Amino acid sequence: MRYIQKVQPPQFFIEDTLNLESWSSYFSHKKHKLKEHLLEHEQNYLCCYCESKISSDTNSSHVEHIRPKGHDKYPHLTFEYHNLAVSCNGTCQNLPNDSTIHNCGHIKSNEYDENLFLNPVELEDIRDYFEYDIDEGKIEASAKNEQKASYMIDTLRLNDGGLTKAREKALENFIEKMKKIEANLRREEIKKILKEEKLEQISFFEI
Ligand SMILES: [Zn+2]
Repeated sequence: MRYIQKVQPPQFFIEDTLNLESWSSYFSHKKHKLKEHLLEHEQNYLCCYCESKISSDTNSSHVEHIRPKGHDKYPHLTFEYHNLAVSCNGTCQNLPNDSTIHNCGHIKSNEYDENLFLNPVELEDIRDYFEYDIDEGKIEASAKNEQKASYMIDTLRLNDGGLTKAREKALENFIEKMKKIEANLRREEIKKILKEEKLEQISFFEI
């Protein structure tokens, strides 16, 4: 999981959400505009939890309330810009026509343990809580805080729904790409890719 640095709320978001009382009254084309903004300016088109490549298309992603907006949770944060990110719909690795939800925001739903949740828009060192089994593409808890990291992996099901395979595939693609680059230029290219953080499953490469 990567740290997401929030920017100031854009003016259109402030205007679009002014005086709205419920999330359902926020028109879908306006939500779409917000998603596009968040993906472009804050998330490099990666899911805020699993780092799968997503677009602002409704079938691919949704606006995620990191602290859930449920009436028994944080309804006052429904339109709080710093509580909003874009999550995949948990179907990224599915075969066509399979809408089974496997992970991320829709699976997390109303769950948020204030003592355990590692919030990607708050923790600059969030990546340090995780490590990867490079052979199996699995995300695992590091020694930093196993309880919190395991809670996140379980709550978001970060090893389900083909995500381990997606990490393996991302690594294969990366190696293929590197083979096409002259050996003496590879080091610089790798540095650039890691710095940009645009690559799918980027944390898998960072660690
Ligand atoms: Zn995801």
